[in-house]
Amino acid sequence: MVDITGLHKLYGKNHVLRGIDLQVNAGEVTCIIGPSGSGKSTLLRCVNRLEAPDAGRVYVDGVLMGYRERDGKLYDLRPAEVARQRRPIGMVFQRFNLFQNKTAIENIIEAPMRVAGEPKDVARRRAVELLERVGLMEHCDHYPVQLSGGQQQRVAIARALAMQPKLMLFDEPTSALDPELVGEVLDVMRGLADSGMTMMVVTHEIGFAREVGDHVVFMADGQVVERGDARELLRNPRNSRTKQFLDAVL
Ligand code: ATP
Ligand code: MG
Repeated sequence: MVDITGLHKLYGKNHVLRGIDLQVNAGEVTCIIGPSGSGKSTLLRCVNRLEAPDAGRVYVDGVLMGYRERDGKLYDLRPAEVARQRRPIGMVFQRFNLFQNKTAIENIIEAPMRVAGEPKDVARRRAVELLERVGLMEHCDHYPVQLSGGQQQRVAIARALAMQPKLMLFDEPTSALDPELVGEVLDVMRGLADSGMTMMVVTHEIGFAREVGDHVVFMADGQVVERGDARELLRNPRNSRTKQFLDAVL
């Protein structure tokens, strides 16, 4: 589903991604862990092309992100074409990023109507299903300020799912939440994983990575230091830096 090869990203002289190769199979959950500044967010942002890498390729479901390939040459796509490529990729950020002037259900139907051109009743029907799935139907007409952080994040997940993504990217979706609200968001993500969604999850929740992750990737200094079966890697890391990191966070 996701095929990343030779990915490099620089911000000025800061070489943030230094040759990332990573594959994620359809239906699998890959959790990405690593110290602050190691490039985890940048990697996710390169996957859905919120950032343009300086070298390397990202394929999502067979689509080469950001380029058109013709006669062995790559041509940059226009922003509108990149936006179209991005549609089947849902992303949930640390901050909830809901539209503050829209209710929960209005947040969810916005993109299906405006971007995908769905009629309102179709978009609403799916939004209701999604709100039920994340356990928030009774809050459908509430504005973000009337919702807890955990509830807002569940709306954000439902909003991403409303575009019927093939791939979901999560960037520390629970790290801005009060501890007692973390579980409800992880539960929704676990359900999503169980339903067969392909997911890349940047997280500090090692327990979640162990239980829900198929694979874990440990990143440091813009490189994949170690990748492996989630339970195996977390129990028995081979690389000393992975070991050091896990000792510090567990
Ligand atoms: P954290 O765990 O703190 O979220 P991270 O692993 O997600 O860290 P990134 O946010 O990907 O790390 O950042 C990697 C490096 O790239 C950092 O040195 C950061 O300062 C730099 N960086 C990230 N985004 C930008 C940007 N838009 N412009 C310039 N530098 C950036
Ligand atoms: Mg980050």
